[in-house]
Amino acid sequence: MKELYREIYKKIKEFDKIVIARHIGADPDALGSTLGLKEIILNTFPNKKVSCIGVYSSVFKYMGKMDKLNEDEIKDSLLIVCDTPNVIRIDGIDDPRKFKYVIKIDHHPEVDHFEDLKWVDVKSSSVCQMLIELTNETRLKMSKIAAEKLYMGLVSDTNRFLYEYTTPKTFELVAGLVRENKLDIVSLYNNLYQRPLIDIRFQGYVAQNLKVSESGFAYIFIDDKTIEKFGGDTGLSGNVIGSFNNINEILVWVIFTEDKKQGLIKVNARSRGPVINTILENYGGGGHAMASGARLTKKEDVDKLIEDFDKLCKEYK
Ligand code: AMP
Repeated sequence: MKELYREIYKKIKEFDKIVIARHIGADPDALGSTLGLKEIILNTFPNKKVSCIGVYSSVFKYMGKMDKLNEDEIKDSLLIVCDTPNVIRIDGIDDPRKFKYVIKIDHHPEVDHFEDLKWVDVKSSSVCQMLIELTNETRLKMSKIAAEKLYMGLVSDTNRFLYEYTTPKTFELVAGLVRENKLDIVSLYNNLYQRPLIDIRFQGYVAQNLKVSESGFAYIFIDDKTIEKFGGDTGLSGNVIGSFNNINEILVWVIFTEDKKQGLIKVNARSRGPVINTILENYGGGGHAMASGARLTKKEDVDKLIEDFDKLCKEYK
């Protein structure tokens, strides 16, 4: 393991130009890990050019701004891809192979092999956790700003230390991070957990209208008119999907959201038992065992997925 940390450090040290990327539909772990890593690299090597790319997230604006990819620099740059197992989900890059060297740092089950060097740890709570570890074990230097971003990403991906893979190591790393960087965690929580009223109203709508089968499968189809009625966008579903855990009657829950502009149906899926990513992989999606997603292009796949999930829950019971 130590050898792998050293290898990653060596490559970061070797390149003057570094691009850091993450998955589309960025969440706090994707943003915190990439923007945090940029801060760490610049804190250690102030003369390097480090760009963090991908679509700016207004929902998580407190995480920071994104940089533009300079096409001319691609062939001389090191690319570090965080939190993304497959090429199609890398935000802002079609072909990672155009970069001189590619490092993948991820905690998803492996899908594509687009890297020269990889560190994949599916038992890590988050990529932010992996970067705290990497910094502790190498000559990379943490900064307070980086620590704040990593803390928020880790706390968000574990849902406040609630999920599986929150281990003693997670707590040890976080304890050191908070202590050494004197983090004011209450102000960070204000960023993470402050929500607009529209989210709560939408959450209420989902709660009222979820269909729940005998097997414990719950789902709802949100059409574009409903999204319009609430005055939000399709991101609303992702904001509320995590709120339906620990409900007696529900084992697996899914929100299907129509995105007319893009001509697809987004799937946000969560489980508190049955493994769901393998089902979504059959529909071009994937993710973690208990938190996965997909983008469907055929409406008939909605009914097929409902059947598959219902069957999965029956078998699990
Ligand atoms: P979300 O419901 O969007 O928060 O996504 C939950 C998890 O599923 C994340 O780890 C994503 O990386 C993964 N995921 C979401 N959408 C897709 C997709 N279309 N293909 C593969 N993985 C996905």
